[in-house]
Amino acid sequence: MADKILAKDKLAEFIAALQKDKDVFAPKLDNDRLVWAPLEKADDIVWEFSNTEMSPKDFFFPQTECMMHFKNDPKAEDGMIMQAEPELAKERALLNIRPCDAKAFGVLDMIFCQDEMTNDVYWRDKREKTLLIGLACNDPCPTCFCTTVGCGPHNEAGLDVLLVDLGDKLLARPISDKGAKALSALPEAAADDAAKAAELKKAAEDSITQGVGTDKISGAEVLDLFNLPMWDRVHESCLNCGTCTFCCPTCHCFDIQDEVQGEAGRRVRNWDYCMSWLFTVHGTGHNPRHGKKERVRQRFMHKFKYIPLKRGGEIGCVGCGRCVQLCPVNIDVREVVNSMNA
Ligand code: SF4
Ligand code: SF4
Repeated sequence: MADKILAKDKLAEFIAALQKDKDVFAPKLDNDRLVWAPLEKADDIVWEFSNTEMSPKDFFFPQTECMMHFKNDPKAEDGMIMQAEPELAKERALLNIRPCDAKAFGVLDMIFCQDEMTNDVYWRDKREKTLLIGLACNDPCPTCFCTTVGCGPHNEAGLDVLLVDLGDKLLARPISDKGAKALSALPEAAADDAAKAAELKKAAEDSITQGVGTDKISGAEVLDLFNLPMWDRVHESCLNCGTCTFCCPTCHCFDIQDEVQGEAGRRVRNWDYCMSWLFTVHGTGHNPRHGKKERVRQRFMHKFKYIPLKRGGEIGCVGCGRCVQLCPVNIDVREVVNSMNA
């Protein structure tokens, strides 16, 4: 599929065409915070940014999501009427999503939709109805390390379209058939536009100088990593606040609860987090991850050993750097993983 060109002064038309059958969202400034919000006009688009504080996983895996409604009814066959939550009514487009966040959705696809028996209808419905238009990072921030975890600032995995900012215009690369359809009205890019995009890609990749090594982790025995002495000290400053899990595009733990009022109620799932003491506490009161050490170890072992082991080598981290930026006690995933690898 040929690369296209989208002039920035034609963005209003492009967005209007998307809005004919989709709700369009993009990172927007809310005072000094960059948040995902509905996009009404092209002038609201922010072009210079490193990443949003929270990942856009909420579009597919909301913090609180209703799964179904139920009501006691003695006349019903089982004494209860159960009603599915309606599917997403309108398609959506996420404009200017960063490549690392799109890659993260591919990792979560493997977890939410593993096979016919494990196929999360809530996740799948939203994924199928959302067009992902990525914006390549031309200027990664110092906490980004995507190139060392199988991703990159111009990575195409998981996207329908990749946009590369060339100044007054964007190179628009169709990745999927859905993406090609969205770009069908645009003119083809010239060879020097594609060459400029390739130069920007190389410069962005070369600017990422810190990262993680995982070569020895992949070959190591699970129990050898699990019993490393480093876990005795890594956890010490952790507050178990959960910030790293809530901002992370690949963290996906949830808890299911029934909210009941009178004879009716609804079943909801809420984000949960492995750093919480309550997360693994059993009905007996026993907790296999009773201490901070066990919980902190779980977070890193899960992303860098258990997920790769179960999902064909795919790492459960895309190197977005959010947890490095936001951890209140400066626990740096790069240092922890490099210690594991060493
Ligand atoms: S953000 Fe930092 S302090 Fe909070 S749970 Fe994560 S590692 Fe611990
Ligand atoms: S572990 Fe940290 S760097 Fe890796 S994807 Fe999650 S928030 Fe981003």
